[in-house]
Amino acid sequence: MKESQIKAVHQRDLRRLLKSLGVYEAVSCKTCTCFFCGCTIDEDTIAAVFPYGEEVCFCCGKPECCSALIDFEQEESYG
Ligand SMILES: [Zn+2]
Repeated sequence: MKESQIKAVHQRDLRRLLKSLGVYEAVSCKTCTCFFCGCTIDEDTIAAVFPYGEEVCFCCGKPECCSALIDFEQEESYG
């Protein structure tokens, strides 16, 4: 089974990842929202970061959003 391209990040690595993507400021200012449910994303609620087109999108830690993310990625990969 192929490992998902989307990896959950450890909190310690999160800031570095967000900074590398240029979205750390936006997350720390709580201006980002979950791609699926639209709730506010911050350093506590963020579960995943993934590219969508030109955008960097976020997924919160809700189980339904995490499973939606998996479905979403599979559609992207195989569609
Ligand atoms: Zn969500």
